[in-house]
Amino acid sequence: GQDQRWELLADPIGNDKQAVRIVDRTALRAAEKMRVDFVANASHELRTPLATLIGFIETLEGPAVEDADARRRFLAIMRGEAQRMIRLVDDLMSLSRIEADKHRQPTAPVALIPLAEEVRDALGHRLAKGERKMLIDAEPGLPPVAGDRDQLLQLLHNLVGNAIKYGRPGTTVKVRLRRDGASMVRLTVEDEGEGIAAEHLPRLTERFYRVDPGRSRSVGGTGLGLAIVKHIVERHRGQLLIDSEIGVGTRVTALLPTAASLG
Ligand code: ADP
Repeated sequence: GQDQRWELLADPIGNDKQAVRIVDRTALRAAEKMRVDFVANASHELRTPLATLIGFIETLEGPAVEDADARRRFLAIMRGEAQRMIRLVDDLMSLSRIEADKHRQPTAPVALIPLAEEVRDALGHRLAKGERKMLIDAEPGLPPVAGDRDQLLQLLHNLVGNAIKYGRPGTTVKVRLRRDGASMVRLTVEDEGEGIAAEHLPRLTERFYRVDPGRSRSVGGTGLGLAIVKHIVERHRGQLLIDSEIGVGTRVTALLPTAASLG
């Protein structure tokens, strides 16, 4: 149709015939739209906390200047907004760093069990807050995967972080590590949380896509966590699967090639 166009090109081999190329304008337009949307969304996400900060600064300059209690409360809110902006900028930088490198597959052998333990330690205070546990269930002799240690740590951190953010207090987050066939390792992070309706599943890894934006913000989400996870998995030539059931929980699976599979 209108979105697909045949283009006549000079024959690269040098015959007199002309080569034909299909230019898929739909794909080009979709990519361009994604880029424009991304800049607009990122600007909006950064502008919102800034506007809040300005509002509180003006209040502190005026009516609240003599009120020590209000001052304390406002400063706490301002700190929270500034921290939100730091998280967002950190996530934006991660995303662009991973994307810049996406054609180079990382190949260092990485043992996933110590990474899972590191994440459990790093998120210990957040686990404890909701009286949650994190269980690491790893197959003995699990082979190392081919990867980038820092990125795999971030992948685990984001997935376990989500399991905590959207999980229920008093429940257990399970990280399971298994071989999958001869050349892959299967990593799953499973929670007993609120779950995600099926219609949202295909869009979860889009930047800034949130099932419940208010809830995501109130638990400190940036809307970029799963987009980062997807990019990391792709860079590792792996596969990402998400399944979920409302009221039961969510399971995110990453299939990653073992170091040995690269030869
Ligand atoms: P956020 O920073 O908002 O958590 P993510 O990219 O990590 O962004 O996730 C996108 C959205 O997917 C979240 O806003 C949330 O609605 C949903 N989500 C992600 N992980 C889970 C989970 N384990 N349980 C329920 N919902 C989840």
